[in-house]
Amino acid sequence: MSKSRAQILTEAMGGCWHDTAETKPYHDGGTIHICKCGARDTMFEASFSSATRSPWDRLRNQNDFSTWVGFGKLWEWAKEQEWWADFMSADVDAVDFFEDLINPNRFADAVMNELERQTEVNA
Ligand SMILES: [Zn+2]
Repeated sequence: MSKSRAQILTEAMGGCWHDTAETKPYHDGGTIHICKCGARDTMFEASFSSATRSPWDRLRNQNDFSTWVGFGKLWEWAKEQEWWADFMSADVDAVDFFEDLINPNRFADAVMNELERQTEVNA
């Protein structure tokens, strides 16, 4: 399964996407899922009958780059990166840049493109 934009950006930012490395029973039912980073979340089968829910949804959704909160996190991280100056001086004028990229989804996509470009440059 290919990684989602949220996972790629979270990992690029040094965060953990979280996955279950270990489980333990919770004392009154449910299962504690423990990630290798130490994060944990408890699943109660009765309250989450949907098979589509991952035990990590709650934590993963804290890095939803389609939201303004996610935009803020990504912006603060991106402007500290080595590639930021190049990214900001790409072939667009400043007005286009700001009108276009001050938008959570478009900025996240642009950062994804930049990360892909960096990977190719450094390959
Ligand atoms: Zn983790």
